[in-house]
Amino acid sequence: MLIAGFEKNSLLDYPSKIASIVFTYGCNLRCGYCHNPELVTEPCKKDAIIAEDMVLTYLKKRKGLIDALVITGGEPTLQSDLIPFIKKVKSLNLLVKLDTNGVLDSIVKEIIGLDIVDYWAMDIKYPQEYYEEYDIDTKSIRRSIDMIMDSGKDYEFRTTYVKGLHTIEDANGIGEMITGCKNYYIQNFRKGKTIDPTLDRSNSFTEGELEAIKKIVTPYVDRVAIR
Ligand code: SF4
Repeated sequence: MLIAGFEKNSLLDYPSKIASIVFTYGCNLRCGYCHNPELVTEPCKKDAIIAEDMVLTYLKKRKGLIDALVITGGEPTLQSDLIPFIKKVKSLNLLVKLDTNGVLDSIVKEIIGLDIVDYWAMDIKYPQEYYEEYDIDTKSIRRSIDMIMDSGKDYEFRTTYVKGLHTIEDANGIGEMITGCKNYYIQNFRKGKTIDPTLDRSNSFTEGELEAIKKIVTPYVDRVAIR
């Protein structure tokens, strides 16, 4: 595992649980609004890679105090030893949350088959036609969505809305992609360090616009919230 970051305690990243977080290096997408360019477009700093054993030892020591491990990135499904790593975490009786962009649906399938992830969080980047425009296999995305919804596990889908990249009406196409889902989160773009350095405050939606997005998505999903 190329673990490029480790946060020991978080109350925000696994609903109602105390979690540690690992950030894996590398991604198969290049979202301009990505806040982790050091994990995506910048070269991997080998000497900054955190040993898997260090993470596992910490989790063992904090047994009873940490409920879960969140595995995020980058795109964690790119890690060739992700599954053995998750199995080691599960052997410590911890919950595992996996964040993914859903592109590698075959890995999503394998993990669901092994029943080793307790909470899935998948980004729905755009409506289907944008995926096509950006040459991302929409069938893989659709399969990942369906498998996660049918997995019997807790899950959420979420979209970071970026003005200039998304329109308010895009929420229709996104809603169609996740029709019937249990939990959907609308995330506003926030200015910060991003892959595309030209993005700034003007790329955030207003509260009123986020409410309009929520109104559009509401008929498609069981629960939607602005985060
Ligand atoms: S936002 Fe996620 S999927 Fe997009 S480039 Fe960053 S890590 Fe990859």
